[in-house]
Amino acid sequence: MTQLEFAKKNIITGLMKQVAVLEGIKPRELMLLIASGKAVIPLNVNHKIKKPCAIGTSLSTKINANIGTSTDESQISEEIEKLKIAIKHGADALMDLSVGGDLTRMRKEVLKYSTVPVGTVPVYEIAVKAEEKTGEFLKFEPEDVLSVLEEQAKQGVDFFTIHSGITKESLEVLQKNKRLMGVVSRGGAIIASWIKFHKQENPFYSHFDQILKIAHKYDITLSLGDGLRPGSILDATDKAQISELKILGGLAKRAGQKGVQVMIEGPGHVPLDQVEKNIALEKKYCHGAPFYVLGPLVTDVAAGYDHISSAIGGAIAASVGADFLCYVTPAEHLRHPTASDVREGVIASRIAAHAGDLVKRRKQALKWDRNMSIARKARNWKKQIQLSIDPDKAKLYRLSSKPKLSDVCTMCGKYCSIRLMDQCLPIGR
Ligand code: SF4
Repeated sequence: MTQLEFAKKNIITGLMKQVAVLEGIKPRELMLLIASGKAVIPLNVNHKIKKPCAIGTSLSTKINANIGTSTDESQISEEIEKLKIAIKHGADALMDLSVGGDLTRMRKEVLKYSTVPVGTVPVYEIAVKAEEKTGEFLKFEPEDVLSVLEEQAKQGVDFFTIHSGITKESLEVLQKNKRLMGVVSRGGAIIASWIKFHKQENPFYSHFDQILKIAHKYDITLSLGDGLRPGSILDATDKAQISELKILGGLAKRAGQKGVQVMIEGPGHVPLDQVEKNIALEKKYCHGAPFYVLGPLVTDVAAGYDHISSAIGGAIAASVGADFLCYVTPAEHLRHPTASDVREGVIASRIAAHAGDLVKRRKQALKWDRNMSIARKARNWKKQIQLSIDPDKAKLYRLSSKPKLSDVCTMCGKYCSIRLMDQCLPIGR
């Protein structure tokens, strides 16, 4: 049975108990969220990890870091280094988006080293295998799709991003309603091209029942991908995006009926004033399923700083109900990220998630900020560093400041307002 089926039968599993402790909620509360489809625990029955997590309503906002080989840069060891950095800095989940080199070995290594849930986008491997076999990456059949899914499932992948919402119907909406950037999702573009090339329905849609069987067997969470997500803020919340979202809502319902856990992926590039609307639409059309957003980036012009653009959007999204943020690194739109880009992206995304959790009034988040304020007021630098979202960086900055052992910092020096108030007007609670 899957976690969803256990929950529907009113059974609290050991995994639910373990995750509830991490969340600081009662196991029964978590069980009810899972039973209603409002939360998921992505964990393959074949994968053992130290830090499982739940994603969804009433839970802390989680973040995902993407790693993986590209067609140009395929060092598995470098990607495993990035994996370790992402986990060290607080990623709750990882996605292996490899498209270059030995994909099976890469995934094996990722699953071995990851202490958090691992997701993949199987259409990448399907396309790579088709190209190796036929010289053309679109020459694959529905059977090839199912075979790669089964192989990855057996290996232990915890969640699959599948672009089942790109269909003949949603593509027609896209064609009738012009947008600036077309299809920018890599998986979405492959599927859209496949539909045009074969003049057939998307196999991830036409064979959804078979996919559910595989997901059910291994308790894999399906992350229904937004292949038609906007790639420009000018395309945000357009008819094509919403048409796909409605299809995903229908598929989410079918998954839930078969006992398969499901979450929904969302945009992308969204101006600030449309972020809240996007969350509300997902919750409405997808029956409250957990929402996994990429960013969202709130401007298109922040190349080199897209982790900041996405953290701004992510914070707003989390504060109004997004459950899972996919990080964006400073290298977005420009190059394959380095280990340092991964670190920057994870920290930026964690700040966004935490800012959202403060608005969600999550007890653990509020306590963290309170403790930091207390340490700051006491000018307890050791504690402040310890409580920083990136203690290594905080320590580096503090140690580079002169005088090193002063009880103030070099920002205001002898005019330190906190110390002045302590001396002249000690108040506080
Ligand atoms: S010197 Fe200024 S910035 Fe530094 S601790 Fe005091 S008030 Fe804060």
